[in-house]
Amino acid sequence: MSHMYNLAIIGAGPAGIATAVESYLLGIRDIILFEKDENHNSTIRKYYKDNKRVDKDWKGQKVELDGRIYFVDGTKETTLDFFDEILANHSVELKTHTEVQKIEKRDGYFEVFIAGSSITAKYVVVTIGRMGKPNKPDYKIPPEIKSRVGFTLDGCVGGEKVLVVGGGDSAIEYAVDLSGQNSVFICYRRETFRRANPTNQRDIANAISHKEVEPILGIDIVSLESDEGRVKVIFNDIEPRTFDRVIYAIGGTTPSAFLASSGIKEEDGKPVHDDNYETNVKGLFVAGDITQESGGSIALGLNHGYAIACHIQEQEQ
Ligand SMILES: Cc1cc2nc3c(=O)[nH]c(=O)nc-3n(C[C@H](O)[C@H](O)[C@H](O)COP(=O)(O)OP(=O)(O)OC[C@H]3O[C@@H](n4cnc5c(N)ncnc54)[C@H](O)[C@@H]3O)c2cc1C
Repeated sequence: MSHMYNLAIIGAGPAGIATAVESYLLGIRDIILFEKDENHNSTIRKYYKDNKRVDKDWKGQKVELDGRIYFVDGTKETTLDFFDEILANHSVELKTHTEVQKIEKRDGYFEVFIAGSSITAKYVVVTIGRMGKPNKPDYKIPPEIKSRVGFTLDGCVGGEKVLVVGGGDSAIEYAVDLSGQNSVFICYRRETFRRANPTNQRDIANAISHKEVEPILGIDIVSLESDEGRVKVIFNDIEPRTFDRVIYAIGGTTPSAFLASSGIKEEDGKPVHDDNYETNVKGLFVAGDITQESGGSIALGLNHGYAIACHIQEQEQ
């Protein structure tokens, strides 16, 4: 049999990196970290706007860090630098451009399948997040306007009439950021932005009072149509309006197909796991956003990684 890793981690976001680094710091060796994108932290790279403020206590959730990774408030750029540094300082093998397809348990070890080949490992941790599949509206997006409807700020050029859909922190940050160069509207089905953290609630209130962002609150979107190539939005309670671009910031989904193909049970939209984040398959763990129905954070992912590392170390003694 080829080389057997002690620990294979799927997904190099905060939870995956923390699992790898905390395990290394506890003396575990032979760790491999798989990332499907060209670099670690694709959620931060793709979904955070440039210079975004990164809050340790995201969404107002106060998190005491349990492990040895000292993460503090910063920006998108300082956060990525921070993860670069801790990966460089600990001997973790990071394999980018490598999408794991499924995990199978054999006699006492795991086979981890990647395109055309596989590796074996004693323990496996799945930290693939929920943003691989952002939540999409349940109505159809007509093909002719698809390029004007997105889930990140990609493609935003400035000077446009933009509708941001959602009322959480991400939606507010997108709306406030875009309002510097665009005419921005924010549509949320609730009447207030109470789910957002206090800073974002203040920012959106300011932007609205200065007429930089126009709120469309307590309203649902029923469908989208093409209006000569622009996006016509049909609402439930008000007249349709046409925008140059619509951006949905409504969270992500549980990667159910991946979990099922690896034998991990799911209940209420989350993988089943115990207090050590071990799933129904012994030796196979989940950590980070994938364990939450919504509302994960970097700090929570770091703590999950530490808890798993401690548990594996105990098992090895
Ligand atoms: C717009 C936005 C703003 C946010 N702002 C903050 C903030 O200020 N502070 C904060 O604490 N949190 C913030 N969050 C939440 C935070 O980003 C997440 O909680 C955190 O990234 C979750 O970490 P994770 O490791 O669980 O998953 P992710 O960060 O999603 O990482 C998962 C990784 O797995 C990789 N992957 C997926 N599938 C596979 C596969 N099959 N094989 C190999 N690799 C795979 C992905 O490419 C990705 O790199 C924000 C989220 C968004 C969307």
